[in-house]
Amino acid sequence: MNDNFCVFLDAGHGGVSPSGQYTTAPSKQFQHQQGQFHNGSWFYEGVWNRTLVARVIQKLDILGIRYLPVYHEYVDFPLQYRVDQANWYFRNYRRGIFLSTHANASGVGARGYEIYTSPGITASDRIADAHWGHVRDLLGDRITMRTDRSDGDYDKEARFYVLTRTVMPAVLIEHLFFDNFQDAQLLMDPEIVDRFAEAQVRTIIEYVNSL
Ligand SMILES: [Zn+2]
Repeated sequence: MNDNFCVFLDAGHGGVSPSGQYTTAPSKQFQHQQGQFHNGSWFYEGVWNRTLVARVIQKLDILGIRYLPVYHEYVDFPLQYRVDQANWYFRNYRRGIFLSTHANASGVGARGYEIYTSPGITASDRIADAHWGHVRDLLGDRITMRTDRSDGDYDKEARFYVLTRTVMPAVLIEHLFFDNFQDAQLLMDPEIVDRFAEAQVRTIIEYVNSL
């Protein structure tokens, strides 16, 4: 394993404060008609993002792979501060890649997994393709795989702040749609969470082995 490597881990938005407040904008939560999620029938995206990254961290700890969380336990750090942390440590500590964990909402019932890179061909595209493959292998029979093949690869492209302002290869993963009841139920399944975490770890190991 490469000694000059660190994974920069981002869990999108904020979580629940010690006093029980969800610290994130209303668009990052959804109240389902039925089911039990993070607060009764409310699904909190920021809480789910933290659950997944915590699982990734467990696996990286076991493997002895270095990582730096750029998010707070519950505060919704500004994107600029998250990116500034990753860029500073990339320049002054170790090289690495940036993985941003999110779940999606459409308002119209869409389902499925998507992965984003910044526009154009960059080092991030290879990571996105690798991750797409791991998710397909681990979860392809359980989830919808959403893609844009117009440019010949599996990832979608967007000028998200954490993708365009990071100095290292960066991908943003949208793990299913939390405002779709079926997808939201999948997201509450510990095995599904573990498989999504496993996919990130396999992508990380492959990337390190390619250096
Ligand atoms: Zn999000």
